[in-house]
Amino acid sequence: MRKAVLFNIQKFSVHDGPGIRTTIFFKGCPLACQWCHNPESQSYQAEILIDRDRCTQCGECEKHCSQQAVWQKNHQLFYDAEKCNACEMCIDYCCNNAREIAGKEYTVQDVMQEIHKDKPFYEQSGGGVTLSGGEVMIQIDFIEELVKACKEQGITVAIDTCGYAPSDNFLRIIKYVDVFLYDIKLMDSGEHEHYTGRDNALILENLKLLSNHDAVIQLRLPLIEGINTKNEQIQDIIDFIADLNIHSINLLPYHHMGQGKYKKLNCPLPVLERPTDLRLEEIRSMFKQANYKVQIGG
Ligand code: SF4
Ligand code: SF4
Ligand code: SF4
Repeated sequence: MRKAVLFNIQKFSVHDGPGIRTTIFFKGCPLACQWCHNPESQSYQAEILIDRDRCTQCGECEKHCSQQAVWQKNHQLFYDAEKCNACEMCIDYCCNNAREIAGKEYTVQDVMQEIHKDKPFYEQSGGGVTLSGGEVMIQIDFIEELVKACKEQGITVAIDTCGYAPSDNFLRIIKYVDVFLYDIKLMDSGEHEHYTGRDNALILENLKLLSNHDAVIQLRLPLIEGINTKNEQIQDIIDFIADLNIHSINLLPYHHMGQGKYKKLNCPLPVLERPTDLRLEEIRSMFKQANYKVQIGG
């Protein structure tokens, strides 16, 4: 049976598409954006997050790990995600609740069971299911089965995507998807590669493809001060989308909420800033002047 690794199922979400939604977060992303607020989404495998402020270095996790994936040296705790088989034994033996797992395998049937619990809320609010990540369009076999099952049950589907996936993957599911929440980060391909690890050619190509197939596209722009907030960078986006069929635009200012997760993954903290409210308003005005429906926030 087909399975995917999810790291969260968020109920009663109101920022990921219309109405009240269940947002399902898949692990695994081909990009590595410097501002990612879900760093635990980037790896395709389940992994352990460690709150080192809670850890008393009691050694119980090391003692009970059959894979030698956790060890202590010079009063420091180390973890090797490559060796870890996600058995969760170390979590059970940690008396300080310093360990948690990000990632659990689900079948399509498991996910549909979760979705069904929230169906009355979708009906009352015009909501539905949002598939997010990570990057969902990479795991297309699972996603195709899931969106078809949703459609059969009359549940609307939003896909939150960075656009970096084979174009055929989009063609396979386009008719089952009600709205694409599509990220545009930077128009300059070199800058895009510098900040995300990949150039943007495929992303822009897929955006055109969706537009040509009359998909409903809600464009999402993560905005990080000093990286993609200059007038000319915004104007480049406006010029690119001029011939496309864009339903609306969300400006998503950078926030620091993911920083705790970087610490738990033992990764360097990103040093990035949110644009000022004034700058956000100026960017919003640029899109309004170009006749787009635009709002700050999801
Ligand atoms: S595309 Fe999204 S999930 Fe992937 S690295 Fe960038 S911000 Fe994170
Ligand atoms: S079991 Fe928990 S408290 Fe003990 S060393 Fe491991 S993480 Fe730290
Ligand atoms: S989840 Fe299992 S394999 Fe991974 S570190 Fe913990 S005990 Fe070891």
